[in-house]
Parts: sequence; structure tokens; C-alpha cells
Amino acid sequence: MLNLAELKALLDQPQKIIITTHHKPDGDALGSSLGLYHYLKQKQHQVQVITPTDYPSFLHWMPGNADVMIYTAHKEKSAALVQQADLVFCLDFNSLSRINELGEVVKDSSAKKIMIDHHLDPENFDDFRHWNTTACSAAQLVYEFIAELLGDKRSITPEVATCLYTGIMTDSGSFRFPTTTANVHRITADLIDLGADNAAIHQAVYDHASENRLRFLGYCLSNKLEIFQEYNTAMISVNAEELKRFNITTGDTEGIVNYALSIDGVRLAAMIIERTDKVKLSLRSTGTFPANEICKNYFHGGGHRNAAGGQSESTLEQVVHQFKSLLPEYKNLLTQ
Ligand code: 5GP
Ligand code: MN
Repeated sequence: MLNLAELKALLDQPQKIIITTHHKPDGDALGSSLGLYHYLKQKQHQVQVITPTDYPSFLHWMPGNADVMIYTAHKEKSAALVQQADLVFCLDFNSLSRINELGEVVKDSSAKKIMIDHHLDPENFDDFRHWNTTACSAAQLVYEFIAELLGDKRSITPEVATCLYTGIMTDSGSFRFPTTTANVHRITADLIDLGADNAAIHQAVYDHASENRLRFLGYCLSNKLEIFQEYNTAMISVNAEELKRFNITTGDTEGIVNYALSIDGVRLAAMIIERTDKVKLSLRSTGTFPANEICKNYFHGGGHRNAAGGQSESTLEQVVHQFKSLLPEYKNLLTQ
């Protein structure tokens, strides 16, 4: 293990640093990674962000995006970089299975591993941890890491602030989930003072939908939405043919599940998607309903209480059937 003083001493010297985050990175995964990237690069470290897979085009505008290496496209090169690294920062995940094949590479590397994360049940693969499940985002924790643990708020440049703002904004549902505390607003205000252009960031992330995505959203809501009144549950399931018909790419399905959750009275919403290699579930819930428990117990997944995900090797029909047949078990929680 490393204590903070030892980590600070390491960061006082130029280091070879890898930053990685969970597969199919979202705004928080990429925002926290690129925020830390800009900070560490400025401190004269040699830094490389490696994502296990590609990510949605609505994140490509972020400063530093062009410097990101995608593991699936550069396997040997990224594995070599991880092997040679002095430090590996693991952001927005706490289980090596969340970074796919890269997990083995990170595990085998002699680099010191620093976990910055806000998910439940961390695995013990790290040497230093800044972990808090009440944080709204990994980006919030990166802000705390720089400003509080390292005491270096003055080094937060507009680029760092922009990336961290993006992570906080996307993971807090644009500042509306219960994790958006007064402290989160204070941090966000700091980031605006430090150069994050909030209006431009909202526009860059939310106002660049493709026509396909919008038509697909309309199709899901009018043709595919099912409501199970008795269980206050809504579900949207889509098959591979439908994804192909609307030319849906990475990220186009993100957020659709929230429309199902926005229906009056709905406490649990599911989006079930037939991907090429597996069926992926996204669950969202309100209040104390544990969406992560369903994902963990039945769909090899996990996440937060109100936002969780999982997958299955079964067919789409089987997964839909399995999800529906679980509802009676949770009836009390769903209707209380
Ligand atoms: P999404 O539905 O957007 O894919 O994921 C929602 C939340 O659940 C995210 O915070 C993500 O970290 C978590 N999550 C999604 N899929 C998985 C999974 O397969 N395993 C675990 N442990 N968490 C997941
Ligand atoms: Mn996150």
C-alpha cells in the first residue's frame, strides 16, 4: 500500500503514468480521465489515457480526445505502455472485469495502482484509493484528489475544469440526482470560476444528436415501451435488427431508459438491448429501490442503487422473460 505522503513524493518526480477507465466510457469515465490527464501532463509526467473500448461521438469534442488510445485498436502498444508504467490510475471502476482484457494487463503490471471511484464493493487490486460511494461522479473525486489531497487547486486549468465539469454534469443527470449535494454545486461553481464554460459544455454533450438517434428514440417510446402497472415498472427492449434499421452506434441508446423512468409513478425502468455478442441491460430506479441488486444477482453486473447495468448470454426473449418474472419478487419494494 501507499500512503498519501508516499504518493505525493512519487508525483513530485516525473513518472510514466497510465490512466484507464471502464469499457464503453461515459461522460464521467472520459471526463475524469481527461481531467486528470491534463493535470498530470502539466506536471511534467508522461501520461497516456487508455480506454478498453471506443466511446460515443458526443464525447469526441473533449480536450485531449485525440490523445486517447483505445485498447481494442492498439492492443500490443497499450499493453506495453501499461507494463512499463510507474503508476496506473483506475478511474470510475473498481473491479478489473470492468476493463475487459485490459484487466489482466493492469493486474500483471508492477506499476502502483491508484483507484479513484464511487461504485460499491471495490476489489483489492489497488495500492492507493480515493473512494467514496456518496460522490456524484469520479470527476468529483478527481477534483478532490487535486484540490484537497494534493492541495493544488491553483493548477486546475480551463482544460482540466472543462473535463471535470463534463463528468460531474453527466453522472449527476445534469445536477438533478440526489448525489448532487450543496458541496457538488460548490465544486461545480469552482470549476466554472476556473474556466469551464458550462453553457458550451451542455450544448456540446446534449445538442448534437443525430437524426437517427432522435427517430430511434421516438420509435422506442411509441412502439417498444411496455408498462407493468402492477409493479410500477417500465421496460423497453430492442433487438439487433431494430438497431441496424436505425443505424444505431455506440452511445445512441444512452439515456433512453431515463424517459421510461420519467413516467409518473414508475419506480423501475429497464432498457434491454440485443448487442452482437450479448444482451445488455440498463436499469434505473427511484428512491430506495436497489436496481444494482437485480443486476448483481441475476445479470453479472452491478452499479449504483438507482443506476445499474448488467448483461446476459441468453437470448433477448429469455432476458426479457427473466426480467419480467423477477418483478413479483420485488413487488413490495416497487409498490410501497
Ligand atoms: P449503464 O446502464 O449506463 O450502462 O450503467 C449504469 C451504471 O451501472 C453505471 O454507473 C455503470 O458503472 C454500472 N454498470 C453498468 N454495467 C455494469 C456491469 O456490467 N457491471 C457493473 N459492476 N456495473 C455496471
Ligand atoms: Mn461514474
